[in-house]
Amino acid sequence: NFYEEHEDIKRLQYMDVIRLQNTMNIRVGGLKPPRPVCSFAHFSFDKLLMEAIRRSEYEQPTPIQAMAIPSALSGRDVLGIAKTGSGKTAAYLWPAIVHIMDQPDLKAGEGPVAVVVVPTRELAIQVKIGDCFVHKFLIFRCSKKPKDSVKFIILMLFVHMEEAVSGNNLMNYKMREPKWLSGRIIDLVKMGATNFLRTTFLVFDEADRMFDMGFEAQVKSISDHVRPDRQCLMFSATFKQKVERLARDALVDPVRIVQGEVG
Ligand code: ADP
Ligand code: MG
Repeated sequence: NFYEEHEDIKRLQYMDVIRLQNTMNIRVGGLKPPRPVCSFAHFSFDKLLMEAIRRSEYEQPTPIQAMAIPSALSGRDVLGIAKTGSGKTAAYLWPAIVHIMDQPDLKAGEGPVAVVVVPTRELAIQVKIGDCFVHKFLIFRCSKKPKDSVKFIILMLFVHMEEAVSGNNLMNYKMREPKWLSGRIIDLVKMGATNFLRTTFLVFDEADRMFDMGFEAQVKSISDHVRPDRQCLMFSATFKQKVERLARDALVDPVRIVQGEVG
């Protein structure tokens, strides 16, 4: 009986791989990529997160999530290319939460554990607020950390410094909720508004748009400022040469996931 059950599981995993490769049109590269996880029930998230996913409108991971989440949870760097609307946010946000929860609390003066870099204010707001129950739940959970222990993602935007200072982003920094800071990130670090001392989870989202907007040098500079033992994930809707170049610089031995027909 046990043997039969075991065979079932093996068959299921095999089917998952085939389904990913054919139906979902996904190509995976890199050294020894982990198996895709095609059912939320098979994620090793904690109970509360699993419960939140169960109660959400999500039925199963999208292809990019099926491959990127187990890769990220296993500690690997990830390069994920999939078109807009394919569910890339959760593919990095959920592993980020798991990573954050695993870390010891921050001491005074230590910057965030996880940093998500996005090219526009709109995108930052979208990621921060989340458009679904699961994201809201996660934000709520991370907000319940003790005072001064701001571990949650800081979303940093590449807008002009004046805009950053005139907004209340810097003022809110001590509050017990997910933060975002705007402004040229390196300026913020120089000003002492934040630091990357404890940053061990770094995400670049919409990498292609960062380059379209001329932020290549800044992206490189952020990557160079964050400790080399960090885990780094990079997502993009298209696979441009500059994305590939940065991926080579910033990512170590990444799992490379390309889903669908991307430019
Ligand atoms: P991308 O960043 O790839 O453009 P998003 O992360 O913004 O995509 O997600 C696009 C939409 O799909 C959002 O409305 C999101 O809530 C929804 N979504 C994400 N993951 C799933 C899932 N597993 N099942 C159903 N809907 C999902
Ligand atoms: Mg996105």
